[in-house]
Amino acid sequence: GGTRLDIISIFPEYFAPLDVSLIGKARERGILDVRLHQLRDWAHDVHKTVDDTPYGGGPGMVMKPEIWGAAIDTVIGDGAPRMIVPTPSGRPFTQELAQELAAEPWLLFACGRYEGIDSRVMLEYGARLRVDEVSIGDYVLAGGEVAVLVMVEAIGRLLPGVLGNVHSAVDDSFAPGAMRNLLEGPVYTKPPVWRGHEVPAVLLSGHHGKVARWRRDEALRRTIANRPDLVAAIDPETLDKRDREL
Ligand code: SAM
Repeated sequence: GGTRLDIISIFPEYFAPLDVSLIGKARERGILDVRLHQLRDWAHDVHKTVDDTPYGGGPGMVMKPEIWGAAIDTVIGDGAPRMIVPTPSGRPFTQELAQELAAEPWLLFACGRYEGIDSRVMLEYGARLRVDEVSIGDYVLAGGEVAVLVMVEAIGRLLPGVLGNVHSAVDDSFAPGAMRNLLEGPVYTKPPVWRGHEVPAVLLSGHHGKVARWRRDEALRRTIANRPDLVAAIDPETLDKRDREL
């Protein structure tokens, strides 16, 4: 039962947040089966060394292939999980990829540190498993652990039974369908006036059609302001006259 997630890292303690909140509850309920592995358990010298100097020279250290190979072989056995390797040089992590990964029964995350993992590891397992090198954004983290937390949270909330309201994910920014290339607009709750700031009247009108139209307008405005790259990707067929005026 549940989606199996194996995570190999030299800092399994980084994953303590997976005990909390939505993901913690999903684990308790058997929707997610998270298994953490300490990479150093497969390093056999006295110092439990997992890295070495890079061929070709240069600064930093590279994670050794033999140790990753031994770890992955043990974790997967005869199985074939889909393998995800976080790296700033990977394909972008998107809501679409999160959806795709949420449909997999078994994922294996290999967390790099230092200058990353010897490339032959991805080559070796790429022949047996589906392997994706994935980046969570155009910046450089110190290790893959935080990137994996980001991916697990994005994937986990899409699994059936994780979100209290099945519709919560439908209106999200980047959600498939009408919001495909749109950011979600502003949201409000009670009271209707706070420090002199009023909630937009249309939201109090009870008119579902007008509310939906207003939300789409605001989504488009916000996308134009913050993400011109997304606006360029909107299919013009999906825009009406009013959208074009925004
Ligand atoms: N030299 C590498 C490069 O420029 O591509 C950077 C390595 S980074 C210091 C160490 C590790 O952090 C990577 O192996 C990867 O696991 C993780 N990492 C850093 N930035 C990331 C990002 N934007 N997305 C996913 N993982 C990232």
